[in-house]
Amino acid sequence: MDYISTRGGLSISAGSAILRGIADDGGLYVPSSFPILTQEFLEKMIPMDYPERAVEILSLYLTDYTKEELKSYAEKAYSRFDGDPAPVLKVDDDLFLLELFHGPTYAFKDLALTILPYLILSARKKAGVENKTLILVATSGDTGKAAAEGFKDVEGTEIVVVYPSEGVSELQKLQMKTSEGDNVHFLGIEGNFDQAQTLVKKMFADKEINKKFAKMGYELSSANSINWGRLAPQIVYYVSAYLDILGCEEIKPGEKINFVVPTGNFGNILSAYYAKQMGIPINKLIVASNSNDVLTDFFNNRKYDTNRPFHKTMSPSMDILISSNLERLLFELSGRDSEYVKVLMKDLKEKGSYVIDFEKIKDDFSDFAAYMSDEENTEEGINAFYEMYDYVLDPHTAVAANVYSDYIFDTEDKTKSVIVSTASPYKFAKDVYRCLTGNNEKDPMNALKKLHDYTMTDVPEELLELDMMPIIHDKVVKVSEAEETILAIIADKNKQI
Ligand SMILES: *Cc1c(COP(=O)(O)O)cnc(C)c1O
Repeated sequence: MDYISTRGGLSISAGSAILRGIADDGGLYVPSSFPILTQEFLEKMIPMDYPERAVEILSLYLTDYTKEELKSYAEKAYSRFDGDPAPVLKVDDDLFLLELFHGPTYAFKDLALTILPYLILSARKKAGVENKTLILVATSGDTGKAAAEGFKDVEGTEIVVVYPSEGVSELQKLQMKTSEGDNVHFLGIEGNFDQAQTLVKKMFADKEINKKFAKMGYELSSANSINWGRLAPQIVYYVSAYLDILGCEEIKPGEKINFVVPTGNFGNILSAYYAKQMGIPINKLIVASNSNDVLTDFFNNRKYDTNRPFHKTMSPSMDILISSNLERLLFELSGRDSEYVKVLMKDLKEKGSYVIDFEKIKDDFSDFAAYMSDEENTEEGINAFYEMYDYVLDPHTAVAANVYSDYIFDTEDKTKSVIVSTASPYKFAKDVYRCLTGNNEKDPMNALKKLHDYTMTDVPEELLELDMMPIIHDKVVKVSEAEETILAIIADKNKQI
């Protein structure tokens, strides 16, 4: 399987696509085609466990890795989870939850970021890369910690995570600031996630910067969902969830299901779209947004417009106005018209908006439905779900649960649906505790304990210990100083050796 950029150009191998992260032209790598999963193949996978399913799916895409290699990576990566990495829970007659927060950092990012370091390391070896790999990451809260966990002390790599200093939950911040590993660096910026992501993407595209890093012995790569190495492992859990539901005869072979996905950078739900392209019977992909509802408007009005206020919400990992991965969807919907994708991305860069031309994109977006849930509704959603199902949702997943209700109200769709649960509620303990009880607990560690006392659900052990860990990373700079600071961090690192 070869990979091409959404903005045209030559095709490259999976390993190269993963190693580079983003194409030189600023485009994103996509597979040259989508392999189709036959009924027979699906049935063969039903009895398999998660790592085995991962090997089957990944080997279709990552063809320059052997099955043995993938098996060893999947086993190592998914042994870091507490039990099944992606269990499906039935909560109501037609409703399931896909829990993706049983990994080392308690958010769905772990499903890909536990395996990505192996894919990068192996790609480095295959390509005989002598330089070190510098993983440059922008995070809206969860990617940073998950990437740091995945890459810490991985030979030949250095990782720098840029996060919005005031744009993540306190526990997310504490998780990052206490991260260990000699090759791990965090940098807070006085700005939001979009600025962090724009900075990182700009550095990838900047030839001068790349030269400076090369001089110091580094090549840049990405652990954000712009990297194909993030999206491929995410396809696995959509297939796996379908197999679980089919396996326990909740649906018949060929019967469709819906996925409801809380969305920010459009990476998670794009993997579901790819699963649909591979033949998984999916009816609707339901795009759930918080108050930053740029995607809701896009799917309903065909205009993508970032010229709007940026809201800080209790689902900070979705406080995003520039959803990078939408570019990959536009590429597919336009019939892989890279020239048209370039036009749209130019408009986005210059005007902060673009409008879809019906002549260029004939697709009616019918694979998707899109809704938003504002802060008030999300709070109500957390309460309603707790009352109805005795289940504590994190705020991101609560956005999805509300959106699901709105969708059912509008459409009366009887299709069985899976809400993708992206984080442990304990990562957002203060807000969840306030929503459930009406009480404000200012201290995040106390909120953790109080949420546990109130709900009697299991607290992730490592979160409880966060306040005993030393703060290792405390640097916060202006956006305009970030690039220089990152160069200095790496120069400094080289001096130490
Ligand atoms: C990252 C994240 C999201 C959004 O995922 P995208 O791939 O950016 O759409 C949703 N919920 C949580 C908890 C996250 O960490």
